[in-house]
Amino acid sequence: MYLHDSQPAREALIQAQVRNDRLQLLFRQSFFSVFGSALAAAMLSWICWERLEHSLILGWLGLLGASTTLRLIMLITYFRVPETARTPERWETTYWATLVLSAGIWGSGALALMQAGDLLIQTLVLLFAVGMSVSAVSCYSAYRSMTLVSIALVLMPCSIWLLLQPHTAQQGMAVASLIFAGFVVSATRKLCQAMERAFRLSREMEHAHRIAAHAAQTDELTGLQNRRAFFHRAEGVYETCKQAHLPLCALMLDIDHFKRINDCHGHQAGDEVLRQIGSVIRQSVRDADVSGRLGGEEFALLLANTPIEVARVIAERLRSAIADITCQHQEGVTASLGVAALNHLDQDLHGLLALADKALFRAKASGRNQTAVG
Ligand code: GH3
Ligand code: MG
Ligand code: MG
Repeated sequence: MYLHDSQPAREALIQAQVRNDRLQLLFRQSFFSVFGSALAAAMLSWICWERLEHSLILGWLGLLGASTTLRLIMLITYFRVPETARTPERWETTYWATLVLSAGIWGSGALALMQAGDLLIQTLVLLFAVGMSVSAVSCYSAYRSMTLVSIALVLMPCSIWLLLQPHTAQQGMAVASLIFAGFVVSATRKLCQAMERAFRLSREMEHAHRIAAHAAQTDELTGLQNRRAFFHRAEGVYETCKQAHLPLCALMLDIDHFKRINDCHGHQAGDEVLRQIGSVIRQSVRDADVSGRLGGEEFALLLANTPIEVARVIAERLRSAIADITCQHQEGVTASLGVAALNHLDQDLHGLLALADKALFRAKASGRNQTAVG
């Protein structure tokens, strides 16, 4: 498919895959962040329980419980839908909505606790908010904007409120947390770029590998499998049919008087004939069959689960399709074919192909443009 795509099309595909990879990483890291945020709120509430209004703590925990449940439902749904439905277009917005909701509840609750408490409570709340910000860096590492928004919602309200307080200790804490936030902003940029580059590199390598593997197996001129790939796949099909006692036929095809075409019309005309024959063969084979260009103007097919009578019909169909090829030169193109069936169990693939080759030789000797059965 994309092996033959243009450069911009391939670039667009890689970009889409990288976006998908980022989304997958985000969801894989999210269970930790969802439980972490609920656990941090529970611990902070427990520590502050004696010093603060219980209804305030319980109200905050209730809202956080609801948003945590929402996030969990989203995560479970994401992992239960088929992979094809896990698209960034569908899931990024949902993720954003639950993230803003839960970070907003966390941040405003922390601010409310801070306003209601003494300096010790304020220090504790700020400590937890800083901890939440650190965990946001690791959880949303593939989405810088998510890290920044969650820090802005969780840490900023408390820090700004502290900055506006009269005591130097409160202002000092606020300044320290703002400096910390500055470092985080710069670190997330580098982290996110590194993640993106790693995803992109791995996708590009995957594409390069596929293109190289395809090139190593394909005959460039005809698009059929080359000799090596033909024998590699043919061995597999041969063994499968032999073990399952299924009928199997080999078919050898050689263009008639091909040298003349080259001599009279040039090598390029010869190449065009090879290309057209490659396309005729590609259109005639089923997925289970193996076809390839063995070299020069010689082709081979291995027809899986096919009795000799059917193989003969297929060979004849191929022969007449080749005779119908319209070329620039007048005399037309013909081919001779040899067909042989797997007939005894000690025979190997090369033995079967040699039988088909013998039949091909007979077809040539009998006047060409015909099929002989071995
Ligand atoms: P026959 O009917 O007996 O098969 O005769 P033929 O002329 O087809 O067979 P021969 O073996 O004498 O000639 C094969 C020719 O195929 C010679 C070679 O130059 C040509 N050939 C081999 N590979 C290619 C190729 O990739 N492109 C082109 N244009 N010609 C090729
Ligand atoms: Mg020939
Ligand atoms: Mg030949």
